[in-house]
Amino acid sequence: MTTKRRALITGITGQDGAYLSQLLLDEGYEVFGVMRRSASAEVIGERLRWLGIAERVRLIGANLIDLPSLLDAMAEARPDEVYNLGAQSFVKTSWQQPYVTTDVTAGGVLNMLEAVRRAAPKARFYQASSSEMYGGSKISPQNEDTPFYPRSPYAVAKLYGHWITVNYRESFGMHASSGILFNHESPLRGIEFVTRKVTDAVARIKLGLARELRMGNMEPMRDWGHARDYVRAMWLMLQQDKPADYVVATGRTTSVQDMCAMAFAHAGLNWRDHVVVDPALFRPAEVDRLQGDASRARTVLGWVPKISLEAMIGEMVDADIERLRARRAAG
Ligand code: GDP
Repeated sequence: MTTKRRALITGITGQDGAYLSQLLLDEGYEVFGVMRRSASAEVIGERLRWLGIAERVRLIGANLIDLPSLLDAMAEARPDEVYNLGAQSFVKTSWQQPYVTTDVTAGGVLNMLEAVRRAAPKARFYQASSSEMYGGSKISPQNEDTPFYPRSPYAVAKLYGHWITVNYRESFGMHASSGILFNHESPLRGIEFVTRKVTDAVARIKLGLARELRMGNMEPMRDWGHARDYVRAMWLMLQQDKPADYVVATGRTTSVQDMCAMAFAHAGLNWRDHVVVDPALFRPAEVDRLQGDASRARTVLGWVPKISLEAMIGEMVDADIERLRARRAAG
């Protein structure tokens, strides 16, 4: 009998952590998750419960800004693969809390690399990098060779995480890969992000619980994919003999406005009847357009996204309507 492979995930309570856990469990892994002690128990299990896997992952209390706790987590999980998905990941919040963002989103990566190097040296490492690192880039579509131009404290922190991963690979020969993932969404996306904010509002309006939706800048364009597709790319990166960096994207870019129109139309509504643009929701610096070129992931990993934007937005609107109905029925 072969022993089960073991994976350790930071950010396991987030959207990608939940979908990645599901994929790894399906692949026969034993899954361990790092969890902040300060997070409330209710919130911790929410997404894992939604996928029906909360009982099947083992949670370890540790914090990305506390190296000893990460060393202990490595000793307990004895991972073959480590996925660093934990971060302060809200772009707008990163202007309000630039130090926390830097400590967790940048310093946390260094701590994880050190913890792997010292306590799990054979483990393969995945770093969740972000298309936000391209920010103000004038080059489109963006691939692994496109110069970065971060436009928020969050993006600057992610850029550090990306380069320290590359550096530890080159300095210590670690099997460390960085996935530059473009925006990826799902019914498990946090309400702070624009797709889910919109689909939740569409559901409320559809059910008569709200009438308007206040939005920020409707012009930026994003390359939106489905998180379920994107976690498969993360896993594939760690199955390769050689570590490398990969852009993960659909190659299609859509404006916030068109995505919004799509969500309202799915529920038989017209966005123009409900959306109010509120300049207070604009950001100090905006990323106007992101569009990824995932040729390397396609060629080397054999990865292709399977879920279209229309299908994803439809799934999200339907899930939000169902969630609100269930809440209403529960009184
Ligand atoms: P990001 O690409 O990681 O910043 O993902 P978001 O989903 O937070 O934002 C995507 C885009 O939607 C950005 O260009 C935002 O400025 C724009 N946007 C417009 N209105 C809103 C809003 O009300 N909330 C959020 N989160 N984004 C908005």
